[in-house]
Amino acid sequence: MANSQPVVALYDAPMWESLSRERMQLQSCGHCGTLRYPPGPICTTCTSLDYRWTDLSGGGEILSWVRFHRAYFDDHPPPYNAVAVRLDEGPIVVSNLIGPEPEGEWIGRRVSLVYRRHLDRTQHAFMLSEQP
Ligand SMILES: [Zn+2]
Repeated sequence: MANSQPVVALYDAPMWESLSRERMQLQSCGHCGTLRYPPGPICTTCTSLDYRWTDLSGGGEILSWVRFHRAYFDDHPPPYNAVAVRLDEGPIVVSNLIGPEPEGEWIGRRVSLVYRRHLDRTQHAFMLSEQP
């Protein structure tokens, strides 16, 4: 069985480096300001090649979620959840919700970006921002 080790390439290496500093950054288009996620060579809004690395606010909202009951990776024993979070800046990030889980509806709940050590790297995760 595989583990979930990322395949770090040219454009996403700075993002992983920012995670290791616990300040997640994404590419911000140098022309129109659109954030790129996943990182890449060109803006999908205006096709500009220019970009700079920008800190995220850390806020977002759960768009969707799932709980896995089957093992797909050695380093993620079931059960575990996965959440799709729309960041306040716009991009959608798939991650895990850690800490207390919502009672009732998950979708639309406010979450905050947090960092956790996993194997030999720092990963993003989310925690609920407020309790009901
Ligand atoms: Zn752009």
